[in-house]
Amino acid sequence: MCRHAAWLGQPRSLSSLIHDPEYGLLRQSYAPRLQRHGMINADGFGMGWYAEGRQAPVRYRRAVPIWGDANVPALAESAGSHCLLAAVRSATAGMPVEESATAPFTDGPWLLSHNGRVARDAVRDLADAAESTCDSAWVAAAVFLRLRAGAALGDALAEVVSTAGAKDAEARLNLLAADGTSLAATTWGDTLFLRAEAPSGTLVASEPLDDRPGWHAVPERSLVLVTPRGAEVLPL
Ligand code: GLN
Repeated sequence: MCRHAAWLGQPRSLSSLIHDPEYGLLRQSYAPRLQRHGMINADGFGMGWYAEGRQAPVRYRRAVPIWGDANVPALAESAGSHCLLAAVRSATAGMPVEESATAPFTDGPWLLSHNGRVARDAVRDLADAAESTCDSAWVAAAVFLRLRAGAALGDALAEVVSTAGAKDAEARLNLLAADGTSLAATTWGDTLFLRAEAPSGTLVASEPLDDRPGWHAVPERSLVLVTPRGAEVLPL
């Protein structure tokens, strides 16, 4: 189970998800507190952000532990945006450790991360091709296909999660996606937390980034929609 986190609101740096909080993604990469599958997230990391004047996000990902890339702290500190998404990866047994298997996946204006695992047979017929044989790459391709066909962000996530989840009873499909103006996420087999920081914005994370009050657990099998007006949680 990997860990992921996102922010939508007043511009912040990626360090606000990774390095600044006590239990940010850097700490979660080697000492996650609530992770049920996998002990450390050392098989890669990635981050995506929406830079001024650019429609598509900037995405930086690597197949090394986040603590092993000495360029990340300065990059994360200077990458500021109203919409941020980052992830650290613990590869599922049998999945390749390579850059193209590492979240966030991106296509056009979208970013997507997957915490969990799913039988590839349950997702392979939901898309034509994927950039890696990793299950998450197929999940991302299935979501992007629906988004390119005009589906709303939350609808695309909900459709892929419920279709793949129906085919694989063991699937864990916590997805987190961004389009630059909103976030969407699912809970299907793992934890997810929300923190409303009104009026500045909303944090979404697999597990709390710190011990401040205000983190709320999202119920299992939910769809979370985050806009500048706040977050909405719907049953899946
Ligand atoms: N199954 C995905 C992979 O191998 C995600 C793993 C995870 O959530 N730990 O990358």
